Amino acid sequence: MTFLPASRTIDGALSIDASVLTDALPYFSYVDNILHIDGVSSQTLKSHYGTPLYVYSRRALLDNYHAYTQAFDEIEHQICYAIKANSNLAVLKTLADAGAGFDIVSKGELARVLQVTDAKKVVYSGVGKTHDDIEYALSADIHCFNVEAVSELDSISRVAVKLGKTARISLRINPDVDAKTHPYISTGMKDNKFGISHEQAVAAYLHANSLPNLQITGIDCHIGSQLLDAQGFSDALDKLIELIDELSANGITLNHIDLGGGLGVRYIDENPVSVDDYAKLLLPRLKALGLKLYLEPGRSLVANTGVLLTSVDVLKPTEFKNFAIVDSSMSELIRPALYESVMAIIPTDLSKSGDEKVWDVVGTVCESSDFIGKDRLLSLSVGDTLAVTGAGAYGFTMASNYNTRPRPCEVMVNDGAHRVVRKREVLSDLWRDEIA
Ligand SMILES: *Cc1c(COP(=O)(O)O)cnc(C)c1O
Repeated sequence: MTFLPASRTIDGALSIDASVLTDALPYFSYVDNILHIDGVSSQTLKSHYGTPLYVYSRRALLDNYHAYTQAFDEIEHQICYAIKANSNLAVLKTLADAGAGFDIVSKGELARVLQVTDAKKVVYSGVGKTHDDIEYALSADIHCFNVEAVSELDSISRVAVKLGKTARISLRINPDVDAKTHPYISTGMKDNKFGISHEQAVAAYLHANSLPNLQITGIDCHIGSQLLDAQGFSDALDKLIELIDELSANGITLNHIDLGGGLGVRYIDENPVSVDDYAKLLLPRLKALGLKLYLEPGRSLVANTGVLLTSVDVLKPTEFKNFAIVDSSMSELIRPALYESVMAIIPTDLSKSGDEKVWDVVGTVCESSDFIGKDRLLSLSVGDTLAVTGAGAYGFTMASNYNTRPRPCEVMVNDGAHRVVRKREVLSDLWRDEIA
């Protein structure tokens, strides 16, 4: 069966078949023409909580997690969810209870993890760790620092000596491979700020070996995000294996290899490599290596567990363009403005068809880059509710209060039940910490 949820009109407008799109999204479906998320009607959600509203499916999240654990069950592994994709405590708790560890990039993210579990399965990535960050993470006894610069080794060693602790470390290698993704989310090429170059890696490990209170445990890389093709991962694995061999010739043995995150998802009609095919491609080499595997998926665990529900407030046809002004904006969902991401915008009520027009779906923020989607063929009336799918990753975590807008409510649904997992901000929250 060909998967054709989207087509372009002769004018280039994007037309999405909402039923076909949701058929491929587990736990999302239309019941009597109304979009339901794991058995809960979007109309019920809107009347309970209002819009803009982030809604996450707990069961979809668990299924996505188990797709990884099952795909790699032949080898010892630990999935460390990259929490910057969606750091709501309910998401973290769901995954922690299922056995996930976490990949963090800041002290704040570690503090979040500590609200739901301990730091035993935490790996700490990030290019600019301060002494304070290192001290916090060492005191919490994280599993491992993913070290991104030689000077960071000195800092971690110094703090570890001061605290009388041993810091487990892994070096994040920049394998210089082309992830073939948007340049803003590509991280594994030699002109990116991330990681230690392949050429410097052996010297960096030897340096680590000479420093007190460090225990070398692994090697890692993370080459980018929203990779649709597995070739970049495969190339990166080859580069790391080369290094592991060189290290062992230098007397340095490792316990784990961490291949980062980055697996892409289908937002509309992309065809990302599946977790199973990704695993099949890498497993023969990983088995031969015999090291414990760590993975740091973010987007692929959460993106398609979530939608952003938003209401149409104003319809403004002009001579050149038709604008549908909705109650979400770049403040609530910045991906379209930041990366020119094209996300699906679908009606939540399919009974109201007819009179389709081409709309730019935009927010009210005072920036021309403030759009959710451009040139969309939709049948719209004021008061309609739209759903932006794929909004479970890099949605709420990137939300801001720009234009003094309260951040949305977040709700988790689970087999017909729904509950608030973050209250909508109220106006007084917006200046709570300010002093006039
Ligand atoms: C962002 C990030 C991830 C997760 O990337 P996804 O594309 O969301 O899977 C994993 N590891 C590191 C170091 C990251 O910075």
